Amino acid sequence: MRAALAEMLPDDIRERQRVITTQNPPLEDQRRWFAILDGKGWSVPGWPVEFGGPGWSPLRRFIFEDVFHALDAPEFHWSGTHMVGPVIYTFGSAAQKERFLPRIRSGEIIWAQGFSEPGSGSDLASLRTHARLQGDRYIVNGQKIWTSGAYEADWGFFLVKTDLTVKPQRGISFLLMDMKTPGLTIRRIRQLNGEAHLCEVFLDNVEVAAENLVGEPGQGWTYAKFLLDHERTTSSFIFWSKRELARARRIAAAEMLDGRPLAEDPAFRARLIRIEADLLALEWSVLRVLANEKGAFSPGVAASILKVRGSELQQAITELHVDLIGARAMRYFEPEPAAREPSSEWPEHVPGRTTIAQITRASTIYGGAKQVQKNILAKLAFGL
Ligand SMILES: Cc1cc2nc3c(=O)[nH]c(=O)nc-3n(C[C@H](O)[C@H](O)[C@H](O)COP(=O)(O)OP(=O)(O)OC[C@H]3O[C@@H](n4cnc5c(N)ncnc54)[C@H](O)[C@@H]3O)c2cc1C
Repeated sequence: MRAALAEMLPDDIRERQRVITTQNPPLEDQRRWFAILDGKGWSVPGWPVEFGGPGWSPLRRFIFEDVFHALDAPEFHWSGTHMVGPVIYTFGSAAQKERFLPRIRSGEIIWAQGFSEPGSGSDLASLRTHARLQGDRYIVNGQKIWTSGAYEADWGFFLVKTDLTVKPQRGISFLLMDMKTPGLTIRRIRQLNGEAHLCEVFLDNVEVAAENLVGEPGQGWTYAKFLLDHERTTSSFIFWSKRELARARRIAAAEMLDGRPLAEDPAFRARLIRIEADLLALEWSVLRVLANEKGAFSPGVAASILKVRGSELQQAITELHVDLIGARAMRYFEPEPAAREPSSEWPEHVPGRTTIAQITRASTIYGGAKQVQKNILAKLAFGL
């Protein structure tokens, strides 16, 4: 796999990715890379053969994603490959499968996830965006927020209320929308780290063909839970963390303190080894889950544990990067990859570290906030 992937990955994309200064790769690189992967049937490593995936065992997929990240390949566009794709092939109509799955595999359609609303994040079932059936169309009104990458997405998958008379979870449906539909307005949100990747999405009498509803009306909550469990198990981000820990080692070897590399500093070494041990433990836990090892707890519990530990480690590693580059971390906004030529004062391992560390603060929020995950653990694992 390593040899094959290394040969497939174009040098220019790999180089941009190696010195990347933001969390999200350039969309053009992502699309180009996915078209190449699709040619070999590897763009959707988790999908069954029947839907165009490689049908790999969980372990084989684990190895693939490990090698993939170690090579500095651009990240998957998760919302398509890891979120809505599995929902469509599990619950969607034959027409939806035919229309969307090939275009997700090839990277042609980029998706946004329209779940959260102002006032409905952790308490998602309280969402208020409403879709009213009128003939063969839904008329959608409401607002979404924190919709990652909505401004560059082609399609979105949205949770909407289609029945206000039943208890909240029963009245939610899962609706696919073309992001160019009239009445749908996107506003980018300027973030602390200088990026504007998150968006607000305003829905004002947006007309959506009823055939774009996935599965049964009122079953959207079930599909969303399926999707979020998927997201949480994979969102331990183990491969990302391994790659970034390797980066920390490289930075420590290059940065000097009193004439010696920081890598030789005992305090730094103790911190690095602690994180390394935690990451190894997390990797083994992920492997246990993948091997379906019988444990005391249900898969939902495992997903929450992996999510919490994985996100904490991402933060520990990016904070280490920031500490390693010292005062230069104060210049935190580096939106453009390779915006400046590397110099002795600003070598290529410095730009972007703070930008990425700041967005990594969000890893304990998105995909299910940490405190809420702990509530789930308390209930499911310990019956509290
Ligand atoms: C970088 C980023 C990207 C995102 N991308 C998307 C996206 O693409 N699509 C999308 O739909 N959403 C997205 N989100 C939104 C994300 O899902 C929500 O932010 C998250 O669900 C938390 O909801 P909230 O922001 O409304 O916070 P709240 O739910 O208001 O939580 C605020 C605080 O209260 C705590 N809290 C809430 N309820 C409880 C409780 N019952 N017990 C104890 N503590 C509690 C939380 O843990 C948190 O610390 C993104 C968020 C971020 C930060």
